[in-house]
Amino acid sequence: MAEKTKSIGRPLHRAIKDYAVQMGIKDMIYLSIGEPDFPTPTHIIEAAKKALEEGFTHYTPEGGILGLRQAIAKRLKIERGLDVDPKKGILITSGGAEACSIAITSLVDLGDEVIIPDPYYPPYVSAVNISSGKPVPAPVDRETLMVDPEVISNLVTDRTKAIIINNPCNPTGMVYSEDILESIADLAVDHDLYVISDEVYDRFVFEGERPPSIASFPGMQERTLIINSLSKTYAMTGWRLGYLASTPKIIAEVLKVKGSVNVCANSIAQKAALAAIQGSDECVEEMLKEYANRRKTFLEGLNQTSGIRCPNSCGAFYVFPDISKIEMDSLKLSKYLIEKGHVVVSPGVGFGKGGEGHIRISYSASMENLKEALKRMKIALEAYGK
Ligand code: PLP
Repeated sequence: MAEKTKSIGRPLHRAIKDYAVQMGIKDMIYLSIGEPDFPTPTHIIEAAKKALEEGFTHYTPEGGILGLRQAIAKRLKIERGLDVDPKKGILITSGGAEACSIAITSLVDLGDEVIIPDPYYPPYVSAVNISSGKPVPAPVDRETLMVDPEVISNLVTDRTKAIIINNPCNPTGMVYSEDILESIADLAVDHDLYVISDEVYDRFVFEGERPPSIASFPGMQERTLIINSLSKTYAMTGWRLGYLASTPKIIAEVLKVKGSVNVCANSIAQKAALAAIQGSDECVEEMLKEYANRRKTFLEGLNQTSGIRCPNSCGAFYVFPDISKIEMDSLKLSKYLIEKGHVVVSPGVGFGKGGEGHIRISYSASMENLKEALKRMKIALEAYGK
């Protein structure tokens, strides 16, 4: 098999779950998963049923059904102030994951460098490796977990092709401000770089202003590939529906890659997505309100646990506490929490070297489970090494 695939390991946040499952413990609480625990709203399911009943079960155009692309373009205009061509500037994909993969494959040639703030969503690095490019990690600030434009600037070389920005960020839950985005945008324009802007958590901002898309800064739209998805916003992870938005010139190239991978996104999921985007936003608001309550409870609880320092993660549905005063080895501590506390979290090191000394905790779980997990973690962590 190809050498480049050998560098791809099973993501640690999945492997740790397997480790916990095989222990067969009944009261285990899983907080390692980046997946909404809510059901998909009913009106979305109804739209899918209708599509099935009407026989909407064949290939769609490669870019996706026009109605959905138009609905997305309208949203991008209203919510982000962006003018995107619905016919040629939007590509419907099988989830944000496929959008990331084909965006990177379409941009990266042998030896091209891609700067990725570290810690990161692991598939970025895999996709760059698969394309025989070179992932260049840009460590975030250890204290604040914020990406530093100066660190990125110092990593730019004449082989740099793109920067990946994920805002709000998985795994840290950090939300990068407009100022930070503007500095990165200036850098991209000055050095003529592409930016892949992964905005799958763009609705998940619980403190402060929702930041703009980096594509909205001067000179950025023609060099930005926006990635988004219905997975998190509408609790639709299994439907596999996302999109890529950019210029017609860029989308035309990515479309060739997409067409040679899987023709088009699932037809029924596209109809469901249309109902989601065109339907009332009330269901999203309700889920966001619940996430906000959980975040508050969880951050307060963690900050009362000695040895833990928990930066103020304002977005996505993750917190990323610093556990280095207790144990630097995040895998070792995660296994300990499984064994002693029956709580599953993700080792920070699974998201890059910059994540070591941290654990990622997802609060996409019921309030009852979160409160119980907090209690157990406090007891286990305060007893560690004693
Ligand atoms: N980007 C980020 C940062 C993610 O966390 C995820 C999923 O966890 C994705 C993209 C892909 O999501 P999906 O393929 O379900 O749309």
